[in-house]
Amino acid sequence: MAYFSYNEPVFRPPAEANSAIIQATLGCSWNRCAFCEMYTSKKFKIRRLDDLKPEIEELSRIYSGVKKIFLADGNAFVLSANILIPILAEINRQFGKIQRISSYALPKDILSKTDDELRELRVLGLKLLYVGIETGDDELLTLINKGETSSSTVEGILKAHNAGINTSIMIINGLGGKKYSNQHATNSAKVINTLNPKYLSTLTLSLPYGLNHFQNRFDGEYIPLSVVELFEELKTFISLTELNNVIYRSNHVSNSLILSGTLSKDKENLIHQIDNAIRITSRDVYPISPLML
Ligand code: SF4
Repeated sequence: MAYFSYNEPVFRPPAEANSAIIQATLGCSWNRCAFCEMYTSKKFKIRRLDDLKPEIEELSRIYSGVKKIFLADGNAFVLSANILIPILAEINRQFGKIQRISSYALPKDILSKTDDELRELRVLGLKLLYVGIETGDDELLTLINKGETSSSTVEGILKAHNAGINTSIMIINGLGGKKYSNQHATNSAKVINTLNPKYLSTLTLSLPYGLNHFQNRFDGEYIPLSVVELFEELKTFISLTELNNVIYRSNHVSNSLILSGTLSKDKENLIHQIDNAIRITSRDVYPISPLML
């Protein structure tokens, strides 16, 4: 019997908890974002289809009847359409009827593909891309070394939407600290309003290697937010959204406040919940978020 094991660490979005995960790439092709330590232990590598085939076959047996497939690692969508199309074809051949294939992507990974290629990938089941845009603020995008601008972000994501591929967009609460908090919230809302993605989630900045390590990598003055200030920034962001039927979740392990709803239908209710959290947490003892210590 073949032996199958993942190249650790492996990350996946919360919504892919029941998906079969196929590591089409290892690590992240960018691997330079100031706040991200997910793949710093890995060298980026594209995996060969010949190596993937036996894994896909074995996973199709282990996960018999699974409905969703997630392509890992960091931004498997960096693969060219020429490489991705045979992988998706093999997944379809081995797994049979599946509802959705998804992957993390950077806007530049979408822009590097033609409209026809995106549509072909969509036909093969690639229906959702997770894009951590982190912020819609250009200054902050530069300070965190994201390698994207608000324009490339909007252009890339709208290109995916036009090809019928949905997106799940992530914003990081507290990313710019006190100095950039307002422009982060305001410009992120502007970008999200332009995109109107199917899914939106907010995570909270967490620093596994500590504040000093992040401050050394952040190309500006980073002053951490208190828990109350994090909630206030989130409130500003949610208040400024003008969205149509966007499923919003704040259910990542990094979040102190779990929120879920549909924007804009549940906007007032979400703001009310944040206000309550601000009121209760104002009595709290944490001068800054414990995730940033
Ligand atoms: S692109 Fe994503 S995975 Fe890669 S370094 Fe940036 S945040 Fe991390």
